[in-house]
Amino acid sequence: MKKRILVTGGAGFIGSHLSRFLLAQGHEVLCLDNFFTGRKSNINELSGRQDFELIRHDIIEPILLEVDQIYNLACPASPVHYQYNPVKTVKTNVMGVINMLGLAKRVGARILQASTSEVYGDPEVHPQTEDYWGHVNPIGIRSCYDEGKRVAETLMLDYHRQNRVDIRIARIFNTYGPNMLVADGRVVSNFIVQALRGADLTIYGDGRQTRSFCYVDDLVLALYRLMESSSFTGPLNLGNPHEFTMLELAEQVIELTGSRSRVIYQPLPEDDPAQRQPNIAKARKELNWEPRIQLKEGLKQVIDYFRQELSA
Ligand code: NAD
Ligand code: UDP
Repeated sequence: MKKRILVTGGAGFIGSHLSRFLLAQGHEVLCLDNFFTGRKSNINELSGRQDFELIRHDIIEPILLEVDQIYNLACPASPVHYQYNPVKTVKTNVMGVINMLGLAKRVGARILQASTSEVYGDPEVHPQTEDYWGHVNPIGIRSCYDEGKRVAETLMLDYHRQNRVDIRIARIFNTYGPNMLVADGRVVSNFIVQALRGADLTIYGDGRQTRSFCYVDDLVLALYRLMESSSFTGPLNLGNPHEFTMLELAEQVIELTGSRSRVIYQPLPEDDPAQRQPNIAKARKELNWEPRIQLKEGLKQVIDYFRQELSA
């Protein structure tokens, strides 16, 4: 059945891919964004369509809309951007999430919250399972995001228990793909842009910290399946369980771009998690899903994308 779907943060990296996917499934999309890290060019080819509408709005302000589903993705995701105005990041995750839950409650919409592996902080359990409560510094420079997203999960469950709001929580692990900004600041985009410009690749710390990178198309399918699942609320880990050190990532990027760049070492930011890998047994079981696109293949796509961005 055709649904009217609100995607907050819809002009951002993941939101733009999700909006396109939902339209391809035959749904109507209301794309809402304050354009902090999002941009119109991410959704250029969607504007003008009858089944697509773009709304400039900040979710920390209430909004009245009639929708069947809400994907709440609005929130800067790169440390550089969420630390730029940390108080605003907290407001987005508290006031913004309350507004979206209030909307869901009023119109009886199902709401999916884009949570994050950052709720596990610098994890002492590895790989991370959904029942792990995490190891988070409440007063550090990452706290506005980590604790913000943890409160957002609390709000989701409280609205669910108190008001019967129909919820879904996705704990998204590091995701990459086209439509990331050149100045995004996250590691995949930084390394590729540096390699293509012939600049040194900036490794923070000794480069032995790990992350597990999921290609955006795989993630979007999982978000959709979670939203459409009949009763499973989550939280659910969504990510690619193949784990790499940042040194390995840098080597792959240098090889695939054919760049002469070298790596240089810069100080490790405060509270940077040492290791991260999702246990996705639950997603496999509940959604019959697992990522299909492995790092090398995904990196090639993103390298092509950034080549075009840099030449434009
Ligand atoms: P992004 O920064 O590209 O997109 C976020 C979008 O939200 C941008 O378009 C931005 O302009 C918009 N936005 C920010 N604050 C807003 C507000 N107050 N009101 C309205 N719009 C607002 O980031 P992304 O990587 O696409 O992440 C999307 C969501 O997924 C975020 O909630 C993020 O926390 C979550 N997530 C992403 C990753 C990842 O690796 N990409 C991992 C975990 C969680
Ligand atoms: N990182 C790095 N060089 C960069 C950007 C990031 O070595 O230019 C490291 C960062 O310190 C972290 C990892 O790469 O250990 C992933 O960083 P990112 O900001 O992409 O995501 P997050 O830390 O939020 O998982």
